[in-house]
Amino acid sequence: MQWVLQWLARMTYHFNPKNRPTLCAYCKRPAGPFLKEDGEHWLGACCMAHLKKIGEGERLPNKAQLNDLGIEYSIAQTKDLYTKLAIEEDQKPLHKWERDKRKKIFTNIVREYLNWANVQAELDDERAANGFNKVPEEGRTL
Ligand SMILES: [Zn+2]
Repeated sequence: MQWVLQWLARMTYHFNPKNRPTLCAYCKRPAGPFLKEDGEHWLGACCMAHLKKIGEGERLPNKAQLNDLGIEYSIAQTKDLYTKLAIEEDQKPLHKWERDKRKKIFTNIVREYLNWANVQAELDDERAANGFNKVPEEGRTL
């Protein structure tokens, strides 16, 4: 019975966008479906091997870094949403908008940045697999 409650807690946590871990606590790659309970928190893991390392208290000191091209990309991808919401908000300054509309803007910027970063990593995978002279597929260059 205890494992059912733990499994339910894990699933509830994993699918709650407010709590869901973004990165593996060990290597800082995107977290997969693996979770490790840590007191009141759940830590994400990208694979079983890293889940084990997290349980043993091991952590790599990796940190993600911002890329200016990615920032430019995410701002450009958010322009239409921003324009639409700015009209709805009667051209008020952003800090005076309804909270959920401000949240939409920031969510979109962060999501587009992460999408950009994921595409860069996938393109690197393709180059590593097919040679560094390979031209990326149409629509994959940013
Ligand atoms: Zn990992």
